[in-house]
Amino acid sequence: MSYVPSNGVFPAALGDFLADTFCTYAGKTSESPGGVALNSMLLEWTAEVFGYPKGFQGNLTSGGSAATVIAMATARDSRKGLRARDFHRVVVYVSELTHHCTKKALHTIGLGEAVVRDIQVDSRWKMDVRALEATVANDRQNGLIPFAVVATVGTTDVGSADPVDAIADVAERQGLWLHVDAAYGGFFALCEEARALFRGVERSDSIIVDPHKGLNLPYGSGVVLVRDGRKLHLSNTAHKQGSYLTNPLHPGSDDTELSPCDLSFELSTHFRGPRMWFPLKLFGVQTFRLMLKEKLRLAAYFYRIIKGEHTTVMFNHGDLCFNR
Ligand SMILES: *Cc1c(COP(=O)(O)O)cnc(C)c1O
Repeated sequence: MSYVPSNGVFPAALGDFLADTFCTYAGKTSESPGGVALNSMLLEWTAEVFGYPKGFQGNLTSGGSAATVIAMATARDSRKGLRARDFHRVVVYVSELTHHCTKKALHTIGLGEAVVRDIQVDSRWKMDVRALEATVANDRQNGLIPFAVVATVGTTDVGSADPVDAIADVAERQGLWLHVDAAYGGFFALCEEARALFRGVERSDSIIVDPHKGLNLPYGSGVVLVRDGRKLHLSNTAHKQGSYLTNPLHPGSDDTELSPCDLSFELSTHFRGPRMWFPLKLFGVQTFRLMLKEKLRLAAYFYRIIKGEHTTVMFNHGDLCFNR
């Protein structure tokens, strides 16, 4: 009942049309400074939505799963002294409702042997923070390596939000990487009435969100942000680039200017910015905010109906409807 299928919007198709027609290569700043700037604008806007401070770096990805791979790889590479021979002692904390893409990503980045602990949820489907801290302490005592915790803001099953601020406290005390999965619910942060659910998200180490869910954009639209951008950069440049990627006329010129390909495992990609930029520019953020507000109100309306309270609900269809 609560599934939110995306249905695409015309300006996104127009953006794709232009991206494909001009075949813009936005992987390198030196190849397409304009294309990279457009992508960067969208990352900055997304960071603003979640209150991420300056210094972050990110990526437009094909979706939430690819974004999670990038975030988890960055977490792995940022953990000082972590060696492959220790991977079986690494522990990642999730809740019963965490999306399975986290486990998949761990497998993809070579951490398939890691222990994944399903922390119990409370009566409102939120991760039990006390259980989390007790489990971490217990694991540490048993010689394991508590490594990361995943908080979800908008679980796919029931739409619940983990208490990110309290989880951030635990992560800080215990030295865990805090990853926020906002793939499904992230853009509800645009709505004042849902803001409280996002408290603490700005303290996370990484976050993913799917424009192809909350913004109704075509599939193939994900975002990953890493709070300390240097970590994302390091995770993706700890190797020598092909010499054809350095500019012979200005050797070293790329060192000062980060390119998207320095911040992802991908090199050549679809120029993803225009399909997000056009709808946001042409419709305005407010249009998306109203569309999301409508969903919140529909959810509340539905909740009251199944609680048998429907007779007391004021339901003004014209007011609720997105068609203006
Ligand atoms: C959909 C979803 C994902 C995975 O994102 P894809 O874009 O489908 O790869 C991750 N986490 C949550 C909570 C989701 O709802």
